[in-house]
Amino acid sequence: MNIVSTINEVRKQVKEWRKQGLSVGLVPTMGYLHEGHKSLIDAAVKGNDKVVVSVFVNPTQFAPGEDLETYPRDLDRDAALCEQAGAALIFHPEPSEMYHRDYSTYVDMRTLTQGLCGKTRPTHFSGVCTVVSKLFHIVQPDRAYFGQKDAQQLAVIRHMVEDLNFDIKIIGCPIIREEDGLAKSSRNTYLNEEERKQAVILNRALQKGKEQIESGERKSLEIKQTITQTIETMPLAKIDYVEVVDFQTLESIEEIKGEILAAVAVYIGKTRLIDNFIIRV
Ligand code: AMP
Repeated sequence: MNIVSTINEVRKQVKEWRKQGLSVGLVPTMGYLHEGHKSLIDAAVKGNDKVVVSVFVNPTQFAPGEDLETYPRDLDRDAALCEQAGAALIFHPEPSEMYHRDYSTYVDMRTLTQGLCGKTRPTHFSGVCTVVSKLFHIVQPDRAYFGQKDAQQLAVIRHMVEDLNFDIKIIGCPIIREEDGLAKSSRNTYLNEEERKQAVILNRALQKGKEQIESGERKSLEIKQTITQTIETMPLAKIDYVEVVDFQTLESIEEIKGEILAAVAVYIGKTRLIDNFIIRV
Protein backbone atom coordinates (compact mmCIF):
# COMPACT_ATOMS: atom_id res chain seq x y z
CA MET A 1 0.00 0.00 0.00
CA ASN A 2 1.22 3.49 -0.90
CA ILE A 3 0.64 6.72 1.01
CA VAL A 4 0.76 9.85 -1.12
CA SER A 5 0.11 13.50 -0.38
CA THR A 6 -0.11 15.12 -3.81
CA ILE A 7 -2.88 15.16 -6.39
CA ASN A 8 -0.37 14.36 -9.14
CA GLU A 9 0.74 11.15 -7.43
CA VAL A 10 -2.89 9.98 -7.11
CA ARG A 11 -3.59 10.75 -10.77
CA LYS A 12 -0.46 8.93 -11.91
CA GLN A 13 -1.32 5.82 -9.91
CA VAL A 14 -4.97 5.74 -10.98
CA LYS A 15 -3.93 6.23 -14.65
CA GLU A 16 -1.67 3.18 -14.39
CA TRP A 17 -4.49 1.10 -12.94
CA ARG A 18 -6.84 2.28 -15.67
CA LYS A 19 -4.33 1.25 -18.32
CA GLN A 20 -4.45 -2.24 -16.82
CA GLY A 21 -8.25 -2.19 -17.01
CA LEU A 22 -8.68 -2.20 -13.21
CA SER A 23 -11.71 -0.76 -11.40
CA VAL A 24 -11.27 1.80 -8.62
CA GLY A 25 -13.25 2.40 -5.41
CA LEU A 26 -12.92 5.50 -3.23
CA VAL A 27 -13.58 5.78 0.52
CA PRO A 28 -13.45 9.43 1.63
CA THR A 29 -12.67 9.89 5.36
CA MET A 30 -11.31 12.36 7.84
CA GLY A 31 -9.12 9.68 9.39
CA TYR A 32 -8.82 8.36 12.95
CA LEU A 33 -10.34 5.27 11.45
CA HIS A 34 -12.54 2.79 13.30
CA GLU A 35 -14.64 -0.23 12.36
CA GLY A 36 -17.25 2.02 10.75
CA HIS A 37 -14.66 3.23 8.25
CA LYS A 38 -13.30 -0.30 7.94
CA SER A 39 -16.72 -1.59 6.88
CA LEU A 40 -16.66 0.93 4.01
CA ILE A 41 -13.14 -0.12 3.00
CA ASP A 42 -14.17 -3.80 3.19
CA ALA A 43 -17.13 -3.14 0.90
CA ALA A 44 -14.89 -1.20 -1.49
CA VAL A 45 -12.26 -3.98 -1.55
CA LYS A 46 -14.99 -6.49 -2.36
CA GLY A 47 -16.45 -4.39 -5.17
CA ASN A 48 -13.31 -3.03 -6.88
CA ASP A 49 -9.84 -4.09 -8.03
CA LYS A 50 -8.14 -1.16 -6.28
CA VAL A 51 -9.25 0.97 -3.34
CA VAL A 52 -8.20 4.53 -2.52
CA VAL A 53 -8.86 5.82 1.01
CA SER A 54 -8.61 9.57 1.44
CA VAL A 55 -7.63 10.77 4.91
CA PHE A 56 -8.20 14.51 5.07
CA VAL A 57 -9.61 16.65 7.86
CA ASN A 58 -11.33 19.04 5.49
CA PRO A 59 -11.19 22.59 6.86
CA THR A 60 -14.03 23.91 4.67
CA GLN A 61 -16.64 21.71 6.35
CA PHE A 62 -15.83 23.10 9.81
CA ALA A 63 -17.23 26.44 10.96
CA PRO A 64 -15.18 28.78 13.16
CA GLY A 65 -15.40 27.53 16.75
CA GLU A 66 -15.91 23.89 15.73
CA ASP A 67 -13.36 21.14 16.37
CA LEU A 68 -11.07 21.45 13.30
CA GLU A 69 -7.89 21.84 15.39
CA THR A 70 -8.74 19.22 18.00
CA TYR A 71 -10.17 16.61 15.59
CA PRO A 72 -8.23 13.39 16.37
CA ARG A 73 -5.49 12.41 13.92
CA ASP A 74 -3.24 9.32 13.74
CA LEU A 75 -1.96 8.51 10.27
CA ASP A 76 0.19 5.55 11.35
CA ARG A 77 -2.78 3.81 12.91
CA ASP A 78 -4.98 4.68 9.91
CA ALA A 79 -2.35 3.30 7.53
CA ALA A 80 -2.17 0.01 9.44
CA LEU A 81 -5.96 -0.37 9.32
CA CYS A 82 -6.14 0.46 5.60
CA GLU A 83 -3.31 -1.91 4.72
CA GLN A 84 -4.88 -4.73 6.71
CA ALA A 85 -8.23 -4.12 5.06
CA GLY A 86 -6.63 -4.37 1.61
CA ALA A 87 -6.63 -0.74 0.43
CA ALA A 88 -4.09 0.04 -2.28
CA LEU A 89 -3.53 3.76 -1.72
CA ILE A 90 -4.01 6.38 0.98
CA PHE A 91 -4.36 9.97 -0.20
CA HIS A 92 -3.37 12.21 2.69
CA PRO A 93 -3.02 15.77 1.37
CA GLU A 94 -2.11 18.91 3.31
CA PRO A 95 -4.91 21.50 3.31
CA SER A 96 -2.72 23.67 1.01
CA GLU A 97 -2.68 20.84 -1.60
CA MET A 98 -6.49 20.84 -1.73
CA TYR A 99 -7.08 24.60 -1.27
CA HIS A 100 -4.41 26.84 -2.75
CA ARG A 101 -4.07 30.39 -1.46
CA ASP A 102 -6.64 32.05 -3.69
CA TYR A 103 -9.09 29.12 -3.72
CA SER A 104 -12.64 30.37 -4.32
CA THR A 105 -14.93 27.75 -5.92
CA TYR A 106 -17.58 25.99 -3.82
CA VAL A 107 -20.36 23.50 -4.56
CA ASP A 108 -23.59 24.67 -2.93
CA MET A 109 -26.76 22.61 -2.88
CA ARG A 110 -29.99 24.54 -2.49
CA THR A 111 -32.22 21.76 -1.22
CA LEU A 112 -31.41 18.93 1.24
CA THR A 113 -28.81 20.99 3.09
CA GLN A 114 -31.08 23.44 4.92
CA GLY A 115 -32.61 21.13 7.54
CA LEU A 116 -31.24 18.57 10.02
CA CYS A 117 -27.48 19.20 10.52
CA GLY A 118 -27.63 22.10 8.04
CA LYS A 119 -29.57 24.20 10.55
CA THR A 120 -26.85 24.16 13.18
CA ARG A 121 -24.02 23.87 10.65
CA PRO A 122 -25.13 26.11 7.75
CA THR A 123 -21.78 26.02 5.90
CA HIS A 124 -21.00 22.34 6.54
CA PHE A 125 -22.48 20.74 3.41
CA SER A 126 -20.93 23.29 1.09
CA GLY A 127 -17.57 22.15 2.45
CA VAL A 128 -18.55 18.48 2.12
CA CYS A 129 -19.84 18.82 -1.46
CA THR A 130 -16.79 20.85 -2.45
CA VAL A 131 -14.23 18.42 -1.05
CA VAL A 132 -16.08 15.33 -2.30
CA SER A 133 -16.35 16.87 -5.79
CA LYS A 134 -12.63 17.56 -5.74
CA LEU A 135 -11.87 14.01 -4.58
CA PHE A 136 -14.13 12.63 -7.33
CA HIS A 137 -12.25 14.69 -9.94
CA ILE A 138 -8.86 13.70 -8.55
CA VAL A 139 -9.49 9.95 -8.14
CA GLN A 140 -12.23 9.44 -10.76
CA PRO A 141 -13.41 6.24 -9.08
CA ASP A 142 -16.03 3.83 -10.43
CA ARG A 143 -17.66 3.64 -7.00
CA ALA A 144 -17.54 5.71 -3.82
CA TYR A 145 -18.56 4.51 -0.36
CA PHE A 146 -20.39 6.51 2.32
CA GLY A 147 -21.85 5.51 5.69
CA GLN A 148 -25.49 5.77 6.62
CA LYS A 149 -24.16 7.09 9.94
CA ASP A 150 -24.13 10.46 8.14
CA ALA A 151 -27.49 9.91 6.46
CA GLN A 152 -27.99 13.52 5.36
CA GLN A 153 -24.50 13.51 3.83
CA LEU A 154 -25.32 10.30 1.95
CA ALA A 155 -28.54 11.82 0.56
CA VAL A 156 -26.72 15.05 -0.35
CA ILE A 157 -23.88 13.23 -2.14
CA ARG A 158 -26.33 11.05 -4.09
CA HIS A 159 -28.19 14.16 -5.17
CA MET A 160 -25.00 16.01 -6.09
CA VAL A 161 -23.77 13.10 -8.20
CA GLU A 162 -27.02 13.22 -10.15
CA ASP A 163 -27.06 17.01 -10.47
CA LEU A 164 -23.44 17.29 -11.59
CA ASN A 165 -23.40 14.12 -13.73
CA PHE A 166 -20.53 12.40 -11.96
CA ASP A 167 -20.19 8.96 -13.54
CA ILE A 168 -19.70 7.37 -10.12
CA LYS A 169 -21.87 4.86 -8.29
CA ILE A 170 -22.57 5.87 -4.68
CA ILE A 171 -22.76 2.94 -2.29
CA GLY A 172 -24.36 3.50 1.13
CA CYS A 173 -23.15 1.27 3.99
CA PRO A 174 -24.95 0.44 7.27
CA ILE A 175 -24.08 2.01 10.64
CA ILE A 176 -21.48 0.11 12.68
CA ARG A 177 -22.03 0.32 16.43
CA GLU A 178 -20.26 -0.33 19.72
CA GLU A 179 -21.53 -3.30 21.71
CA ASP A 180 -23.89 -1.09 23.72
CA GLY A 181 -25.36 0.42 20.55
CA LEU A 182 -23.49 3.74 20.36
CA ALA A 183 -22.69 4.49 16.71
CA LYS A 184 -18.94 4.38 16.19
CA SER A 185 -17.47 7.80 15.60
CA SER A 186 -14.04 9.41 15.72
CA ARG A 187 -15.64 12.03 17.97
CA ASN A 188 -16.53 9.40 20.62
CA THR A 189 -12.94 9.86 21.84
CA TYR A 190 -13.99 13.30 23.18
CA LEU A 191 -16.34 11.67 25.72
CA ASN A 192 -15.31 11.18 29.34
CA GLU A 193 -16.41 8.07 31.20
CA GLU A 194 -19.76 9.43 32.39
CA GLU A 195 -20.54 11.05 29.01
CA ARG A 196 -19.70 7.80 27.25
CA LYS A 197 -22.23 5.96 29.42
CA GLN A 198 -24.97 8.50 28.74
CA ALA A 199 -24.24 8.60 24.99
CA VAL A 200 -26.04 5.27 24.51
CA ILE A 201 -29.28 7.22 24.85
CA LEU A 202 -29.19 8.31 21.18
CA ASN A 203 -29.52 4.77 19.88
CA ARG A 204 -31.79 3.67 22.72
CA ALA A 205 -34.22 6.51 21.97
CA LEU A 206 -34.14 5.81 18.23
CA GLN A 207 -34.79 2.13 18.87
CA LYS A 208 -37.89 3.06 20.89
CA GLY A 209 -39.13 5.24 18.04
CA LYS A 210 -38.47 2.47 15.54
CA GLU A 211 -40.36 -0.08 17.64
CA GLN A 212 -43.30 2.32 17.81
CA ILE A 213 -43.37 2.54 14.00
CA GLU A 214 -43.10 -1.24 13.74
CA SER A 215 -46.10 -1.52 16.07
CA GLY A 216 -48.14 0.58 13.68
CA GLU A 217 -47.78 4.20 14.85
CA ARG A 218 -47.92 6.49 11.80
CA LYS A 219 -47.86 9.99 13.33
CA SER A 220 -44.34 11.36 13.16
CA LEU A 221 -45.09 13.75 16.05
CA GLU A 222 -45.62 10.75 18.33
CA ILE A 223 -42.33 9.21 17.22
CA LYS A 224 -40.46 12.47 17.74
CA GLN A 225 -41.97 12.81 21.21
CA THR A 226 -40.93 9.31 22.22
CA ILE A 227 -37.37 9.91 21.00
CA THR A 228 -37.16 13.36 22.62
CA GLN A 229 -38.51 12.23 25.98
CA THR A 230 -36.15 9.25 26.08
CA ILE A 231 -33.10 11.39 25.30
CA GLU A 232 -34.14 13.90 27.95
CA THR A 233 -33.85 11.23 30.66
CA MET A 234 -30.06 11.69 30.50
CA PRO A 235 -28.89 14.75 32.43
CA LEU A 236 -25.85 15.39 30.21
CA ALA A 237 -27.84 15.22 26.96
CA LYS A 238 -28.90 18.42 25.21
CA ILE A 239 -30.92 17.93 22.03
CA ASP A 240 -29.87 19.81 18.88
CA TYR A 241 -32.64 18.22 16.80
CA VAL A 242 -34.97 15.22 16.60
CA GLU A 243 -36.44 14.94 13.10
CA VAL A 244 -38.51 12.51 11.07
CA VAL A 245 -38.18 13.22 7.34
CA ASP A 246 -38.69 11.67 3.93
CA PHE A 247 -35.32 10.08 3.04
CA GLN A 248 -35.39 11.34 -0.55
CA THR A 249 -36.35 14.97 0.02
CA LEU A 250 -35.26 15.25 3.68
CA GLU A 251 -38.44 17.26 4.24
CA SER A 252 -40.37 16.89 7.51
CA ILE A 253 -43.38 14.60 7.28
CA GLU A 254 -46.52 14.33 9.37
CA GLU A 255 -47.40 10.80 8.37
CA ILE A 256 -44.93 7.92 8.36
CA LYS A 257 -45.09 6.65 4.77
CA GLY A 258 -42.54 5.37 2.24
CA GLU A 259 -38.84 5.47 3.10
CA ILE A 260 -38.33 7.66 6.13
CA LEU A 261 -35.28 8.84 8.07
CA ALA A 262 -35.47 9.46 11.81
CA ALA A 263 -32.38 11.40 12.80
CA VAL A 264 -31.05 13.02 15.95
CA ALA A 265 -28.18 15.30 16.91
CA VAL A 266 -27.47 15.54 20.61
CA TYR A 267 -24.78 17.28 22.65
CA ILE A 268 -23.42 14.98 25.33
CA GLY A 269 -21.52 17.50 27.39
CA LYS A 270 -19.69 19.50 24.71
CA THR A 271 -19.58 16.71 22.12
CA ARG A 272 -22.18 16.76 19.36
CA LEU A 273 -23.18 13.23 18.31
CA ILE A 274 -25.53 12.12 15.53
CA ASP A 275 -27.43 8.90 14.91
CA ASN A 276 -30.42 7.72 12.87
CA PHE A 277 -32.44 4.92 11.43
CA ILE A 278 -34.05 4.50 8.03
CA ILE A 279 -37.23 2.47 7.69
CA ARG A 280 -39.59 1.72 4.83
CA VAL A 281 -43.27 1.32 5.67
P1 AMP B 1 -15.67 10.64 8.69
O1 AMP B 1 -14.24 10.22 8.77
O2 AMP B 1 -16.33 10.78 10.01
O3 AMP B 1 -15.85 11.83 7.77
O4 AMP B 1 -16.43 9.44 7.99
C1 AMP B 1 -16.03 8.93 6.75
C2 AMP B 1 -17.07 7.99 6.25
O5 AMP B 1 -17.23 6.92 7.19
C3 AMP B 1 -18.45 8.64 6.10
O6 AMP B 1 -19.06 8.17 4.91
C4 AMP B 1 -19.19 8.17 7.32
O7 AMP B 1 -20.57 8.10 7.15
C5 AMP B 1 -18.60 6.78 7.49
N1 AMP B 1 -18.78 6.34 8.89
C6 AMP B 1 -18.39 6.99 10.01
N2 AMP B 1 -18.79 6.32 11.11
C7 AMP B 1 -19.46 5.22 10.67
C8 AMP B 1 -20.13 4.14 11.31
N3 AMP B 1 -20.20 4.04 12.64
N4 AMP B 1 -20.71 3.19 10.55
C9 AMP B 1 -20.66 3.28 9.19
N5 AMP B 1 -20.04 4.28 8.53
C10 AMP B 1 -19.46 5.24 9.25
